[in-house]
This record gives sequence, C-alpha cells and structure tokens, in this order.
Amino acid sequence: MPHKPLRKDSILIVEDEARIASSISTALTGAGYDVTWVSDGRDGLRTALSGGFDLVVLDVMLPGMKGFDILRELRAAGSPLLVLVLTSRDGVEDRVRGLTDGADDYLTKPFYLEELMARIDALMRRIGRPAHEESGKLNEVKLRVGNVSLNRVRREVTVGGNKLELTTREFDLLVYLMRVPNAVRPRAKIINALWSYGSQSGDHVLDVYVGRLRNRLADAGAPGFIETVRGVGYRVIGTVLTEGDE
Ligand code: CA
Repeated sequence: MPHKPLRKDSILIVEDEARIASSISTALTGAGYDVTWVSDGRDGLRTALSGGFDLVVLDVMLPGMKGFDILRELRAAGSPLLVLVLTSRDGVEDRVRGLTDGADDYLTKPFYLEELMARIDALMRRIGRPAHEESGKLNEVKLRVGNVSLNRVRREVTVGGNKLELTTREFDLLVYLMRVPNAVRPRAKIINALWSYGSQSGDHVLDVYVGRLRNRLADAGAPGFIETVRGVGYRVIGTVLTEGDE
C-alpha cells in the first residue's frame, strides 16, 4: 500500500434530515473520511468555525440558521473551508445565490450519493488533498466480484479486464449490488437508494434497469452475474477478490 495521509480528511455535514445525513455519513465514512454530523444551523456554524474540517456539506433549509446565512458568516470570518451546498429541488435562485455567496459547489436534492462523492473528491483535489485513489484507500474505492471490477471514483467498470460502458444509473445500480456481494439486496432498498429520497418510481423501473445491466454484463462476459431472488430482490454472485489477487 502507498502512504497513508497523516490524518484523515475531515468533513462536516450540516443537515437536519436524519435519513439524508445518515446516507451521506455512511458513504463518506466508508470512503475513509472523518465525518461529523450536526443537524442545527447554529451548531453547524459554531462547529464549522471551531476548525479541523476540510469541507462542509451544507443544507439550505435548516432549523436555527439557514445554510446561506451560515455560509455568509463563515466567509465573513475568513474561513477557508470548502463548502458544498445542498439546494432544494427547484431552487434556481438558491443555486445562483449559493455560488455568489461563496459556495464552492452545489448539488440539487434529490441527488445520487455517487455524484456527491465525486464532487467531494473533485473539491478535495482542488485544494491539493489526495483523492482516495492516491491515498491508499483503494479497497473502499474498488470493488471486485468474480470477473467484474469497478472503480467508484473513476466510475469505471471492467469485465475480465475489458472496459464496459454503463449509464449513470446502471453504474450506481451495479455499485449498490456489488457493495454487499452474494447477499440479497431487497427491492425496496435498492429503489430507495437509487431513485433517491422520496421518489415514487415504480417497481417495474428497477426491473427494467436490472434487465439492461444484465444484458450488458452478459455481452461483456459476465452472464448470470445478477441473480433474481424471487419476491425479495437481487444479488450479485461471485468470489470476492481483494487487490493483488488474480
Ligand atoms: Ca433541510
């Protein structure tokens, strides 16, 4: 393994919706970040100003103090923190305001966790911090089951060493299944994770995507990779390999 950073990159989440905060926190922790979660706006500002963080994931609508007010206070105090704002679904004015008020990036809810992770990696690179793939945290970034390999940061999939092009949704679906190989992933949980918060996408949409992903994997040399467990959900089948196995 290459060098480890002296300390973990540290991220503060200021978000009052526990479900969203929990998803983000789990993903970031899994990717090797130190994560602190605060649900109240005023606590968020205080915690952010207390130092020790590299980046803040900042919700706009918060109890205590609104996200943009927190952002303005942070910048007024000369804080160099990277700030990624989570805007509301159709808050076009939020975006404009967020960027002009000194946010480094924004993401509109609902969003894919994978996209949030990619944005955060890009921001960390911007300030010269090593991204995961350079900092020795390979195992969290790369997933490998059977002859299917996947790099979550580069968003690349290979089957038997050959690159496979997938759509964003197909990729996210594959990541979700490969994170816990050989275990059944319940349909409702997959839909919840991929079709984002509060989405009403029907069950059949999942079947459509699984069908497409299956066809692509089969064409690439991994037929039968995704198994249907009738009435429950799906799972990927294969031996889990770690780095260096061949
Ligand atoms: Ca909120």
